[in-house]
Amino acid sequence: MEEAISRILVAGAGIAGLWQAVTLARAGHKVRLIERSQEPFADASSRLAGAMLAPYCESEAADPVIAELGEDSVELWREIYPATQLEGSLVVATPRDLAELPRFARMTANHQAVDGNRIAELEPDLAGRFSKGLFYPTEGHVEPPAALDALLKIALTHGVEFETGVAWDGERPQNDDFAVDCRGMGARGALSNLRGVRGEMAVIETAEVSFSRPLRLLHPRMPFYIVPWSGNRFMLGATLMESEKHDGVTLRSALDLLGMAYTLHPAFGEARIVSFAAGLRPSLPDNIPRVIVRDRHILVNGFYRHGFLLAPVLARLAKDYIEGKEIRRDVLIEDHGEWRAANDRSRNA
Ligand SMILES: Cc1cc2nc3c(=O)[nH]c(=O)nc-3n(C[C@H](O)[C@H](O)[C@H](O)COP(=O)(O)OP(=O)(O)OC[C@H]3O[C@@H](n4cnc5c(N)ncnc54)[C@H](O)[C@@H]3O)c2cc1C
Repeated sequence: MEEAISRILVAGAGIAGLWQAVTLARAGHKVRLIERSQEPFADASSRLAGAMLAPYCESEAADPVIAELGEDSVELWREIYPATQLEGSLVVATPRDLAELPRFARMTANHQAVDGNRIAELEPDLAGRFSKGLFYPTEGHVEPPAALDALLKIALTHGVEFETGVAWDGERPQNDDFAVDCRGMGARGALSNLRGVRGEMAVIETAEVSFSRPLRLLHPRMPFYIVPWSGNRFMLGATLMESEKHDGVTLRSALDLLGMAYTLHPAFGEARIVSFAAGLRPSLPDNIPRVIVRDRHILVNGFYRHGFLLAPVLARLAKDYIEGKEIRRDVLIEDHGEWRAANDRSRNA
């Protein structure tokens, strides 16, 4: 039996909207993707992400459902974006913070304990610097600017109509069968419990050090990581604050980010600072993303720290719902008003 083809509006071209558009178009649906900003990605939180596809490392501080959903992510990325890096993740700690390592190991799965020799094999530039660590061989990462550009091209190749400078007002679809709302913080009017969690990051450049995979330096106060990008650049991330300010990076955060990089390797002391940026992670109260179905308006939102990790999986879930397939229900809510009302009540309490 042939699948029914739907006409679908996708609003918002961040990582969620792009994955949604690609997933639906690849399944044969007619997709129109609209983005409020004139320039693609100019206002998207997605351009700031570390973009680690790290379900196991993330489970240190996330609900188990994040790792469970995220396990499929690397494979989905690889399928459509061959430039997805699959070098794993390496976690290390300075002698002062070594007590953090067994705790991190306990909270996470699918890792190998590594000693100084193995660390040096994995990352020769770390030789002699760290005596113990954890290696997560099945994790991956992408580089957001390149990955976002590539996803947009893939969407266009699959016939997605794309318009910038067009803001969706959240009204029910008129000419389309469904609207999939991927507006991130822009969907606040429809999701009263959505909040922004501030994150700050930096990009630096140096040819003095090179790494093959994301590195996490354990620290009791800050989830610091460094992701190698092309062109001798490194993304340093990220602060995590319950604040909705998204203006410039503070001096304290800049010192923290740069200081951590210097601790990881003193050669970063000679690096050139390329940029600093701050943004908001669209988050629901439990920091778990959801597909929220309100008749023909389907919201895909609340990605918190996990937009790159979970956008492919939630896009597939929304597509399967639209196609009437059997789906997991834990992160999909059919909201006939109760969820919205409960959220409004808890917000006003
Ligand atoms: C510093 C930092 C580091 C991070 N690191 C990671 C990481 O390592 N791994 C990871 O998975 N995630 C990470 N994240 C989180 C990730 O960036 C977010 O989860 C993700 O970007 C959310 O994507 P989104 O598509 O929902 O929202 P966005 O990327 O914000 O996209 C929403 C889009 O909708 C558009 N829009 C808004 N209103 C309208 C409207 N009315 N009509 C049309 N379009 C509209 C916006 O302009 C925007 O382009 C990080 C975030 C930050 C800030």
